[in-house]
Amino acid sequence: MDFKSYLSQDLIDRSRALNDNDFKQNGAYVLCWLQQTLRAFDNPVIDAAVETANKHDLPVLVYHGIRQDYPHASDRLHYFLLGGSRGLQTGCRERGIRCASYLQTPDNIEKGLVYRLAKNAAAVFLEDHPTFVARWQSENFSRKTDSAVTAVDAARLVPTRVLPGGLKTTPSFRAANKVLRDTYAHVQRDVMPSVPAFEGDLGFTEIYLSGVSDTDLEVMVAECDIDHSLWTCPEFPPSREVALAKMDTFIEEHLPRYKWTRNNPAKDGFGSQLSPYLHFGLLGPRELYESISKSNAHSAAKWKFLDEAITWREWFHYQAAHIDSFELFDGLPERAKTTLIEHAADEREELYSLDDLLHGRTSDTIWNAAQKQWLTTGYMHNNLRMYWGKKLLAWTPNPIEAWNTACYINDRLSLDGRDPATYGNMQWCFGKAKPGYREISVYGWVAPKSSAALVKRDGVNDWVAKMNDAPHGEISVPDYIADPLKF
Ligand SMILES: Cc1cc2nc3c(=O)[nH]c(=O)nc-3n(C[C@H](O)[C@H](O)[C@H](O)COP(=O)(O)OP(=O)(O)OC[C@H]3O[C@@H](n4cnc5c(N)ncnc54)[C@H](O)[C@@H]3O)c2cc1C
Repeated sequence: MDFKSYLSQDLIDRSRALNDNDFKQNGAYVLCWLQQTLRAFDNPVIDAAVETANKHDLPVLVYHGIRQDYPHASDRLHYFLLGGSRGLQTGCRERGIRCASYLQTPDNIEKGLVYRLAKNAAAVFLEDHPTFVARWQSENFSRKTDSAVTAVDAARLVPTRVLPGGLKTTPSFRAANKVLRDTYAHVQRDVMPSVPAFEGDLGFTEIYLSGVSDTDLEVMVAECDIDHSLWTCPEFPPSREVALAKMDTFIEEHLPRYKWTRNNPAKDGFGSQLSPYLHFGLLGPRELYESISKSNAHSAAKWKFLDEAITWREWFHYQAAHIDSFELFDGLPERAKTTLIEHAADEREELYSLDDLLHGRTSDTIWNAAQKQWLTTGYMHNNLRMYWGKKLLAWTPNPIEAWNTACYINDRLSLDGRDPATYGNMQWCFGKAKPGYREISVYGWVAPKSSAALVKRDGVNDWVAKMNDAPHGEISVPDYIADPLKF
């Protein structure tokens, strides 16, 4: 489908055709299928769909479906997704767009729903995500449907596809990304539809979420056949308003000192805690960049925060889009894989079961505190995550099992898991960063990490004791870690 003749330039930059199918002249609407970018505003996927629909005098239908069988489906993730869908529906209504949400329950099982919706669509727009379910489903769908499918980059400030290929280092990526930031930073389209919202029957039972209370969302989650042992996270209400308020508070109160204080896990608010909202798209990177840039904070503070939120975040998205098997041990650089495999048979001094790891029951009180923070709140502080990831190499029988365990725990427990940043950072822990000074048992040339610097930070020892003393719930433990790629 030739979208280049009519889409705005920034949307062309963000868009790529996933198949060669033609625009259907008899389509009833343009379908915008969202899986992870759950916001109605500042959303380039919706904007590209609306510009296309306006050109052909058609309405847009936004669709968001939540199945019971995606990897790690739990109260924790379902509740966040439903909250995101609620805001999406409300916002779409404000924009004059119909948003249909579907929640699969044992009594409401639809097969191939998105294919059915696509049958009546003139064309389909969806998100360009480089990892996990959103990627697998989009690629699969675009191969099988007879509709024209266009993927739109809504997860990055600078669209990955406009960057040169073959960037190998963080400095080269930073330089390439940085010069393009201002091209995309000031474009918020929120294109309004020129045709009234689609009102036809869609042939399935929709859920109506606008105005629905949090308690009602919990009731809906309880009806689903998912992992109910993993609870929701009150510290992270799934709402765009909360995300924007958290961002404003962070900018006002913590951004000026972020560069110097961010590595202390004991202090609340020293990190922005925005990663779950960025992951599920309730907050977009463009609006975050613009708000930080416009703030009165010192330029060094702004630079440091944007280096994390834009450079590092988008660098991992770039790598995920370019490196095969990014989610797997196999995606590690050869030198890291080789040294870890050479030491796979080295004796481990301690081995822990998945049950002990999930519940933070090891001999290491710092690691346990970090793990308990993840289990309980759905969030772990950045500085702890580095220590956490490295330790798993020493406590599991071999590096492949260590990788699978690390990704399993991260993806299941963390609200921001299943993200390019998950696997990119795990690669960092497993040897992508520069090698250690000497070859050692188990790690080979991969540098281990000590907790010496961590415990010297103000309040960390008290924080560790407090986390370990607090009561923590128990979650279900599988007999083995299933391959999420088999979804
Ligand atoms: C082993 C390990 C696993 C991780 N898993 C994830 C994950 O599953 N999802 C995830 O989003 N991040 C992950 N990170 C990166 C980082 O720890 C989190 O993004 C950060 O802790 C989120 O907290 P915050 O929002 O308060 O971050 P802030 O310090 O406030 O940073 C602002 C934003 O910048 C981005 N960011 C910060 N640090 C990084 C980083 N190292 N890499 C990429 N982006 C970054 C995040 O989007 C974050 O929200 C992981 C890091 C490690 C070492």
